[in-house]
Order: sequence, then C-alpha cells, then structure tokens
Amino acid sequence: MDTLTTYRSIVGDMGKLASALSLLGWDQQTHMPTKGVAIRSQVTGKLSKMQFELLTSDELGTCLAELRTANGLSELERASVRRVGKDHDRNRAIPAELIEEQSIAQTQAQTAWIAARQASDFGAFRPHLEKMVGYARKFAEYYGYEEHPYDALLEDYEPGMTCRKLKAIIEPLRAELVPFLRQLMEKGTRPDASLLDGTFDAETQRRLCRRALEVIRYDFEAGGLADVAHPFTTTIGPGDVRITNRYLEAHLLSSVFGALHEGGHALYNQGMPEELYALGIARGSSNGIHESQSRMIENQVGRSLPFWTFFQPVLAEFFPQFKKAKAKDLYAAANVVSPSLIRVEADEVTYNFHIMVRFEIEAGLLDGSIDVADLPRLWNDAMKRYLGVVPPNDAQGVLQDVHWSMGYFGYFPSYMLGNLYAAQMFRTLRKELPTLDKSIQAGNFEPLLGWLREKVHRYGAAYEPQELMKRITGHELDGSHFVSYVTEKYGAIYRL
Ligand code: ZN
Repeated sequence: MDTLTTYRSIVGDMGKLASALSLLGWDQQTHMPTKGVAIRSQVTGKLSKMQFELLTSDELGTCLAELRTANGLSELERASVRRVGKDHDRNRAIPAELIEEQSIAQTQAQTAWIAARQASDFGAFRPHLEKMVGYARKFAEYYGYEEHPYDALLEDYEPGMTCRKLKAIIEPLRAELVPFLRQLMEKGTRPDASLLDGTFDAETQRRLCRRALEVIRYDFEAGGLADVAHPFTTTIGPGDVRITNRYLEAHLLSSVFGALHEGGHALYNQGMPEELYALGIARGSSNGIHESQSRMIENQVGRSLPFWTFFQPVLAEFFPQFKKAKAKDLYAAANVVSPSLIRVEADEVTYNFHIMVRFEIEAGLLDGSIDVADLPRLWNDAMKRYLGVVPPNDAQGVLQDVHWSMGYFGYFPSYMLGNLYAAQMFRTLRKELPTLDKSIQAGNFEPLLGWLREKVHRYGAAYEPQELMKRITGHELDGSHFVSYVTEKYGAIYRL
C-alpha cells in the first residue's frame, strides 16, 4: 500500500471512532437513562483510548513525515497533513501518564465545581482549580511556546492566536466599547420589550423553532432536533448533524435565538463535503470561526430588522397574540442591552467584556502573575471596570463557567473572536450580496447560505483562521468592523 492510502485509512478509522463518540455523547445528553452512566463511561473511555492511540501512533507519524514533503497531493490532502500532523505532534508531546493523571483530576474538579457553585463557596473549589492550573502550565511547557505560556494553549482552540495578538485586538475594542456602553445606558432610550412578556407554551415554541430552522435552510433529512438543558450541536458525520435546544415558557426569544445559533453551527458542518470527513478536516477552521457561523445567523441575521419583517407573521402563526405586532417593535425588543453578571445571557454589546475579564485572569494564571486565591476579588474588580456590575456572590461570579474545572484554559477568547469574525465576514457578505436585506425580508435564505457554503463551509478546517479571513475578506481579523457594527446598530436603536 502506498503511504497516502495508509494515511487515509488511519485517518478514516479515527473518523469512525470520532463519529461513534459523538453519537454516544449526544445520546448521553439527550436520551440516556441515569443508570446507564457506568457502562457508558467505560465504552467512551475505551473508544477514546483507541482514538488517541491511532492519533499518536508511530505508523501515522511515519506517514506524516513522508507526506509532509511529498509531491502530487491535492490541496485538501496537504491541508489534512498539516492539521492532522499538528494534532499528532501536540498529542505526542504530553507523556501518557500525565494525560491520565490530569483526566482523573478533571473529573474530581468538575464534581467539586458543581458542589462549590451550588454552595457559592469558592474556597471549596480552590484546591482543584490550583491543580488544573498546574496541569495547564505543565502542558504549556510540553507543547512549547515562544513568548507566553498561554500561547501554547490557545493553539488548541484558535490556531495562530497569541496573547500578544489578543491584547492588540482587545485594547482598541475596550477603549471604544466601554464608553459606548456607558453612553447607551446613560443617554440612550431603552427599547420597550414588554410585548414579549407572558407565558409561551413549550410545545408551540418547539414547532416555531423547527420552522425557523427550516427557514434558514437547515436540512432535517441530515439532522434532527432534541431537547436539552444546555443547547449544543453535534456532528455524527456527513449527513448527520444534530441540534439540541431548550424552551423556557417565560422567555420566548431564548429558544428562537438558541435555534438560530445552533442552526448556524449545524449549517457549517452540513456544508462540509464528504472528502473533508475522509481526510479528518471536517471541523471548523477554529472554535472562533465555528462560533462566527452561529453568531452571524443568531445576531447579524436573526437580530436584524429584515429578519423580523419576515418573521413577524410566522411568529403570529404560532402565537396569535403577535398578529398586530410591528416588526420594528419586535426588532427593538430583541435588542435590549443590559450589563449583566452571566456571560451566557449577555447581549451583543456586553458579551465581549465577559471574555476580556476571563482572558486577563487566564493569562495571569498561566504566567504566574495571578494566584488562584485572589480570583474572586480580581473577578469582581474586572466586572466593575468593564460592565459596572459586581456579583453578589461567587456562584454568579467567578464560579459561573464549567470551563476551568475541565482544564479548558484558552477556550474563552474563541467566543469573542467569533463575534469579531462574524462582523468582519458579514461586512464582506453585504458588499458581495447587495440585495441581501431584500431576500431575507422575503424569507429567502438561499443567497446567504450559498455565500457561506462557497466562502466558509466547504473548506472545513483546511485553512487556519487568519488565512481563511484573508481569503474571504482580504485581510486578517480586524476588530474595528465589530465596533462599527455595534455602534451603528445600537446607536440607532437607542436613539443616541
Ligand atoms: Zn456556539
């Protein structure tokens, strides 16, 4: 067998294991009975181990070494060798015992975090968090970095991103948006959202969300919709990309925007050709780029006036009390800004501040300039500086996210980068599709999807984020597009 055939066979096997693990994970969060946990964790443990062994195998290493300098590979094959090669190198860099040790500590830290958050007791979580930071620092040393240990971890989520680059992105964003938020709150006219008050039947919401997903061209023959507490999207393989959502009877728009957000993620994976699956690159260019696809459908599209002009009569089919509602009032009500304590509930203007708080802390933990013991105080200080609010307790403050208990340091910036990528891409999209508003207003989402398929989806992880951004928009990430998007939109809604 030639090297490329062997390579494709190993990568293909890894893909099959990944598919099985995705399906098991999806089932675990949607349908699995509680008594199924024990056997399920044994099965996923075994499959994960097999997957890890293939990824770090000498056989794959030999193939990669040859293919890295081989001629005659297709563009996608070269991309596969680059990205799978990077995963191979990074996973081989960490001693197997350390990975196992960290994974046990992770399970304990997660259990401790759940209890600590419930009791709002940071002290109970602190020793576990110290351990997780310790592992993150060790991993960073094994991975290697040029400037900052945080850079080594960012690479997992956002290839090519560094602490220095993030600071350069955040600084002007903060300088523009902190005073803008203050202006909105002090001088702006807050939209009246009272037309959304009420109780909205969950089953009717479920049907409405299904319709919203059909509208944006999510393919139900290549997916499905299930209920969960914390919505997510899972890719089982080409032709099987599943969405989950939740329905709060007091918050109608929460499920609608949840569906649009997860739908945006799902369209990305549904738009990846089968060849990408065969080559192990049927995933997002980065977490941030994946998030850009969900944010764009949720915010740039779903929170726009053209969308609500189209969607108001659709909404009224399901909830007749909106028959006489005006599109512009629904649009305004969907765009209320309020500085709040919880990241996942944040609006477009304040969301990135929540990430800046976490980035400052994570970078400090990694380079040793911040001690875990000081986190509650530092967290509250930063919330005050960015958002002007201070959590009444640690449950609503430093303990709110699961990420650190899982050892995911370097993950948060991708959420912010997703917002910034989305704004920049959408600017180009608008230029290239000058009739976009008209088609959205008419309920025709085909031109939008066609553009995303052509520019983003079909490449999967073939290009790293900055290269993809250059190909699409002509330049690397530039946060000023987000600033102008947000200040123009919310300046008008708040009548500044
Ligand atoms: Zn998302």
